[in-house]
Amino acid sequence: MSRVWNFSAGPAAIPTAVLERAQRELLDWNGSGASVMELSHRGKLFIALAQQAEADLRELMGIPNDYAVLFLQGGATQHFAQIPMNLAGEGDSADYIVNGHWGEKAANEAAPYLRVNIAASSKAEQYLRLPPRESWQLDPGAAYVHYTPNETIHGVEYRDIPDVGEVPLVADFSSNILSEPLDVSRFGLIYAGAQKNIGPSGLVVMVIRRDLLQRASRPMAKIFRYAEQAANDSMLNTPNTWGWYLAGLTFQWLKEQGGVAAMAERNRTKAELLYQAIDGSSGYYRNPVDVPARSRMNVPFTLHDSALDADFLKESDAAGLIGLKGHKALGGMRASLYNAVPVEAVEALVGFMKDFAARHG
Ligand SMILES: *Cc1c(COP(=O)(O)O)cnc(C)c1O
Repeated sequence: MSRVWNFSAGPAAIPTAVLERAQRELLDWNGSGASVMELSHRGKLFIALAQQAEADLRELMGIPNDYAVLFLQGGATQHFAQIPMNLAGEGDSADYIVNGHWGEKAANEAAPYLRVNIAASSKAEQYLRLPPRESWQLDPGAAYVHYTPNETIHGVEYRDIPDVGEVPLVADFSSNILSEPLDVSRFGLIYAGAQKNIGPSGLVVMVIRRDLLQRASRPMAKIFRYAEQAANDSMLNTPNTWGWYLAGLTFQWLKEQGGVAAMAERNRTKAELLYQAIDGSSGYYRNPVDVPARSRMNVPFTLHDSALDADFLKESDAAGLIGLKGHKALGGMRASLYNAVPVEAVEALVGFMKDFAARHG
């Protein structure tokens, strides 16, 4: 078997141990004689799986009881629209912090449902730095404040949770959920598409303070209403049972690894290794992001001569390092260092980068 080191931004690496277990259980899950994909979501076995996944996530993230956990569909993008539908009424406004591609998209998708106030933006600085909390022009009457703690494309990450007073803080944690301990009680709503740090695409994990479930006042179909999903254990209709199952296996794997505190340590080591290799390359490689804003999860970098990009990608691929092509908006390279990417993968990448630079001086 030849598993490569996978630095893809998303869908991204899934722990090999999780995939191996899914493989072992594929034809006969839990003594049922059938695949988990073939069983009713209303059956006893699947309901137990769903409850276990929620319990494990609650334990991993330390989620207080006054928060509901939802397992939804539609990708993070659908919730860019559904969050304003649920948290704001006709005529309300919300504050958006735009510190990269996804925050900008979230603000645009919210615009049909409320008045969007761009309370801070680093667009004019090409998203190379983070708008500091002191610069945010917040409206105390806003329905909520939305921000993106980790911007997957631009490689910038807020490390401190911003204080926004009594207004609920809503955060798109798609690319850094479970990467380090987090004080959930500081948030009104946390959401994440699963395909970066949790499992396969097609699943969205949401943690929402229960009082916010009562906010939805405009007419909308039940399927869009978070309160309905919470009241029906996220099974208003057929959920993504396969995604839920793999997310549950990933949560168990995370617990075996020592939980999010152990992950945080590993993620710090990985990021340091790669940034040191970039910064120590005498300009051969470059990461343009303001140092305190650098993401631990997504590391974009360029080569000193972009004419070498094609060779870098071809040779890294041949060396068993995949998913390094940068986002089309930025060009260059990007290495994503999610939980499922081990330290050895980053060591292999850094070794390749040194070797490449020596050979293509
Ligand atoms: C990938 C990503 C998204 C988009 O996720 P989809 O599931 O494709 O809708 C949104 N926000 C962030 C921060 C992401 O990394």
